[in-house]
Amino acid sequence: MKTFDVIIIGAGIVGSSIALSLTRAGLKTLNVDTLPTAGYGSTSYSSAIIRPFYSHVTACAIAHEARARWLQWSDFLACADPLGLARYHETGGVVLVAEGTEKNYAANLAALDSVGVEHRWLSETDLLHRYPNICLDSFAPPRRIEDDEFGQNNGRRISKGIWIAACGHVNDPQLAAHNLYQAAHTEGGSFRFNTRVADLIQSQGTVRGVKLDNGEKISAPIIINAAGPHSKQINQMAGITDIETQAHRHEVAYLKAPVSGFSQQGFLVDLDTGIYQRGDGTDVLIGSADPLCDPADVANPDNYNTGLTEQWTQQAYRAALRFPDLEIENSARGTVGLYDVSQDWIPIYDRTDLPGYFVAIGTSGNQFKNAPVIGEIMTRVITTTDPERVLLTLPNAQREVDLSFYSRLREPQNTSSVLA
Ligand SMILES: Cc1cc2nc3c(=O)[nH]c(=O)nc-3n(C[C@H](O)[C@H](O)[C@H](O)COP(=O)(O)OP(=O)(O)OC[C@H]3O[C@@H](n4cnc5c(N)ncnc54)[C@H](O)[C@@H]3O)c2cc1C
Repeated sequence: MKTFDVIIIGAGIVGSSIALSLTRAGLKTLNVDTLPTAGYGSTSYSSAIIRPFYSHVTACAIAHEARARWLQWSDFLACADPLGLARYHETGGVVLVAEGTEKNYAANLAALDSVGVEHRWLSETDLLHRYPNICLDSFAPPRRIEDDEFGQNNGRRISKGIWIAACGHVNDPQLAAHNLYQAAHTEGGSFRFNTRVADLIQSQGTVRGVKLDNGEKISAPIIINAAGPHSKQINQMAGITDIETQAHRHEVAYLKAPVSGFSQQGFLVDLDTGIYQRGDGTDVLIGSADPLCDPADVANPDNYNTGLTEQWTQQAYRAALRFPDLEIENSARGTVGLYDVSQDWIPIYDRTDLPGYFVAIGTSGNQFKNAPVIGEIMTRVITTTDPERVLLTLPNAQREVDLSFYSRLREPQNTSSVLA
């Protein structure tokens, strides 16, 4: 049997980041992935929005720290990739706020203040200057288009926006994962693609290695589940039943942008209609902010509908409420990907009750941005001598964060702002 220090199941943005950090820490790692190369799973469908707008200080601080590394991506990787490097475009971003709902954002603003992320209020005039053809009617709560009240102004206005400059998006999420893979590989990390982990090997109450789909066995004292939407399957192999994750299907609609230069205006979070939007060249990309009116589209990660459905139509029509000039094309364009959703939409970066078995899962549609830090988080979790108190120093944010925020044992948190 071949032997490694750590086997990482998955080479998405999460598994590849973990590989890089652990190889830098001197460990001999192996990533195993069913797909042909890094980032071909749910990572490749990511809207790749980078924003520190979270309602918890730890989440905000980690996202802001990760943003500093996206800004210096080449230095962070410290290696070339024959495919080129992904690029982070810092466009800034706007969160629309309807009159009377300001208090809903108090925790987010407090987190930004605590971490030291600059933000400012935009007036209606500022919003109209930035988006000349925007409609500032309020339509909340978000509704489905079959609802008779869909598109009816509720008598209020979008009276403000929150502008955050330190936001943007990465142009190619799959390439970003490939960059991390390349960096880890350069530093000695091993990768096996086109190979599925079929089972975990355990004996005497601890994990010993993995069994591959070709029958081969590979041993390691540490196994990390970074299998994205397949996380539940891997937990089942490990016999772990107290950590809940679920694959949810999500569509992202692409339409021609309602104004030229939309890409330069930054992303727009619009909880009033239940979507987020960002420019992508001449297109606008429209994702869901998971409003309460939309039932979760729970999926089997091995067999789900990869075609665009009425989800696409709901999102396109919601975007058209905000931008009435938006032309809704007859042929749907867009992508369909899976979120790996935890109970409270906060990821789980933790050890488990099975000695040697760790998880980096439940990324809930919002952890692409944190990829440059996730590797370090898992390295701290694995190498700590005091599992009760695992701290991570964030040099750019100049603070220490307590990683129990991501514990499997936490009380489910109230997350008011899971939006890409
Ligand atoms: C539509 C969409 C939009 C999003 N938008 C944003 C955004 O704007 N901003 C943001 O920060 N985040 C966003 N996200 C979330 C972000 O993309 C994910 O959190 C992140 O990509 C998850 O990465 P991962 O490595 O955990 O999963 P994956 O990329 O899915 O990687 C898991 C890998 O595990 C492999 N695997 C699974 N089972 C096995 C097995 N048995 N054996 C071997 N390999 C296995 C798979 O092949 C896969 O490659 C979005 C996600 C989606 C789907």
